[in-house]
Amino acid sequence: MSEGTRTPDRLDHNQELYQLSYAHRAGRQSTDGLGVLPVASGPEMADPPKQIVPGVQRLGSSLVNFYLVEEDGRYTVVDAGMPGYFGQVPAAVGELSTVAAVVLTHAHADHIGIAERLRSEAQTRVHVHEADAQLARTGNMPATEGSFLPLLRYPTTWRLVAHFATNGGARVPRITDVTTFTDGAVLDVPGSPQVIATPGHTHGHVALHFERHGVLFAGDALCTRNPFTGRDGPQIMPPAVTASTEQALASLERIADVEASHLLVGHGEPWTGGVRAAVERARETADR
Ligand SMILES: [Zn+2]
Ligand SMILES: [Zn+2]
Repeated sequence: MSEGTRTPDRLDHNQELYQLSYAHRAGRQSTDGLGVLPVASGPEMADPPKQIVPGVQRLGSSLVNFYLVEEDGRYTVVDAGMPGYFGQVPAAVGELSTVAAVVLTHAHADHIGIAERLRSEAQTRVHVHEADAQLARTGNMPATEGSFLPLLRYPTTWRLVAHFATNGGARVPRITDVTTFTDGAVLDVPGSPQVIATPGHTHGHVALHFERHGVLFAGDALCTRNPFTGRDGPQIMPPAVTASTEQALASLERIADVEASHLLVGHGEPWTGGVRAAVERARETADR
């Protein structure tokens, strides 16, 4: 990884991941002695859409989720995956013109991949919390707490890196025009989600409660399968991709009492055991 992309007070760890992806794509050896990266195939490729509950579909791959919520034949896209997933949306909705909005839980690269393309091709607005708007527009990551180095011993990390590389993760288009919201807003988009600010993973991270559908989208406030270590179960994301672990843990209380049959996350399977139970599991895991 090039020192030229760093400044001493601003370690851009997500940038490291993209550079690893890019190096992998280009078939180069990484420059820090890690050697040639293993190539992933098969299981991480895009899966067909899966219905979670009526009106809610899960898209993406086994490593990165994004979702569709339908109401009266119009769709809200919740998070926007990786650029390589674009074709999944017209395949699932038929006419792209039925996509009425994109709503982001946060603006990390693996959650905004097709947002700009949907904005321009489906003429949708892209909604994001005001504190993540700059990240969405520029891709300039605020500092995170930790390094990727401890994660490199996990094969799942390398599968994620390869998955980034093959799905355009090294060159995610920035979103040229975003519509911002704040905590507590009820968005005028299909499904009328309520915004619950859950800062920590990023400063503008939110959960989205679609009450009529009975689902809570938690983004990366917590995951049910760690996309780096491969560990299953509710847990917060690692410090390498988190602005503040302490704040992320505190924010879990903001969603703990939400009534939802399904808790849906950026990484991992849907959780149906109740939001409070998932939050408690995530806290216990963080203590160990
Ligand atoms: Zn994230
Ligand atoms: Zn993510």
